[in-house]
Amino acid sequence: FDLRNEDLKDLQELGQGNGGSVKKVEHTPTGTFMAKKIVLIDAKPSVRKQILRELQIMHDCKSKYIISFWGAFLADPNICICMEFMDKGSLDGIYKKIGPIDIDVVRQVALAVLEGLTYLYDVHRIIHRAPLHVMPPPPVPPCIANELSQRADIKPSNILCNSRGEIKICDFGVSGELINSIADTFVGTSTYMSPERIQGAQYTVKSDVWSLGISLIELALGRFPFSESSDSDSDLSDFEGTLSPARPGPLPPRIKTQKKEKKDKRKSKGVSLQGGGMTMSILELLQHIVNEPAPRLTPEGRFPREAEAFVDSCLLKDPEQRKTPKDLLKDIWIEQARVSNFDLEAWANSF
Ligand code: ATP
Ligand code: MG
Repeated sequence: FDLRNEDLKDLQELGQGNGGSVKKVEHTPTGTFMAKKIVLIDAKPSVRKQILRELQIMHDCKSKYIISFWGAFLADPNICICMEFMDKGSLDGIYKKIGPIDIDVVRQVALAVLEGLTYLYDVHRIIHRAPLHVMPPPPVPPCIANELSQRADIKPSNILCNSRGEIKICDFGVSGELINSIADTFVGTSTYMSPERIQGAQYTVKSDVWSLGISLIELALGRFPFSESSDSDSDLSDFEGTLSPARPGPLPPRIKTQKKEKKDKRKSKGVSLQGGGMTMSILELLQHIVNEPAPRLTPEGRFPREAEAFVDSCLLKDPEQRKTPKDLLKDIWIEQARVSNFDLEAWANSF
């Protein structure tokens, strides 16, 4: 049906990201609850219309592992994207509330994300397109920012859960124009980015596998894996919890990037990541991802061997060696997830 802003009653703010905010709304003519994402777009009317057209592909994304799409419309100066409301929220919110997530749940999350990604690639050939202004791979690290302008999609805040025990992914990049328009503000989310992409390589399906590996460790440990390096001479002590842009306190020194400065009228959430600048500490984290061994599910022996091996295979630093989501669906740990009778619905209703 035709979605109109005036038919949507705001109920509750669900959260804010770098690209905008998300509200729970009720579509009053039908009594349907939805999640409405409001994205402020600093772009010409022709570009906005292009974004809306591109978003229409989401109507055809029908999988139980993908958030369903109700529609999108312009509400100047915003674009509103209405999607299925997931009443248990995102997995980052869940682990921050209940602590580290049971490895049996993490295994079901891995299965759902791999199924969702495989669906997107195979059925719709949705590639998370690189923005048009990406420049040729730079020598690392002087202008990492060019690569930062593409968002990494798989991360705990983009994996949602509901009280039926369903796990679904959202915010995959169907609209190249949308990615281009909001890219500047996504610096803070780049920490799930694979080493090869930090170094300027093109996006491939294997980049999402890396992001999945990082996300799974984060869920199982209940903290972002790079936040507390075991390596004592590493300089990551600055990172408290996640690299959320909301980090309070004085700003670290900033490095000017080569990305062209764009005016940003959005409200800053803290660390100034606007205008294509990035902070020293983010640069250090990116260098750490490139230069240091990948994180692992630790301490050894705490988790099943199959879980450790699966995560290790997601986090192979060489993308040639890393498997695709489709191949990983055949992994023994994932096969176990399929036949497991773990009650996700009971779990989702236990908090
Ligand atoms: P980023 O902007 O860096 O990607 P993010 O994913 O946290 O970060 P948003 O995509 O704007 O930012 O989402 C904000 C929050 O809204 C999410 O963390 C999630 O908890 C909540 N949310 C998003 N979509 C839904 C939905 N369909 N149902 C329920 N909650 C949602
Ligand atoms: Mg999101």
